Amino acid sequence: MVLLIAKFFASIYEVSYTVKQSIRLAEGSVSLVYIGWQVTGNIWFYSCGDCFSEAPELSGLALGLIVLGYIYLCTPLFFFCCLCTCLPVLLVVLFFLNRGTRNPASETLLRSLKTEEFDSSVHTRERSCPICSEDFSNRDSIVVLPCQAGHYFHETCGKRWLQVNATCPLCREDLMSEN
Ligand SMILES: [Zn+2]
Ligand SMILES: [Zn+2]
Repeated sequence: MVLLIAKFFASIYEVSYTVKQSIRLAEGSVSLVYIGWQVTGNIWFYSCGDCFSEAPELSGLALGLIVLGYIYLCTPLFFFCCLCTCLPVLLVVLFFLNRGTRNPASETLLRSLKTEEFDSSVHTRERSCPICSEDFSNRDSIVVLPCQAGHYFHETCGKRWLQVNATCPLCREDLMSEN
């Protein structure tokens, strides 16, 4: 109870990190004491053979408390199981949602791409591939995209990018609109 009040005040007022840490520590110890108490209660309850006949009300109350204790202890486990069963479904949904936002280049666009050999005296604008950040070296196979600026990339980097998204990685121009 004291802990709940402390947590309530901590959420309202800005408290220092150490106070928050102490509250968390106290919560941990309370949980440990609770588990210990639950185990002790179980042992007491089941080792007492004729309690039910001697004090039925008290034994009923104890049984109720033990059941409640089990429910309390099983709640995190229950949520964990829910999460485990829901996660694959969630991932499938996310996959389909993500697939909707993908805009891969058409076969026609991929086939119409201009590939050249990198020549440092001709290709002076970019010295490194903006996708993999590696420096171009002479005779590297590069792909020149049909965007206004004619940005170029390593052939493999550029084509791999276009298979996911038909826009220029640098100027974001939609390359499908030209086709
Ligand atoms: Zn590259
Ligand atoms: Zn571009």
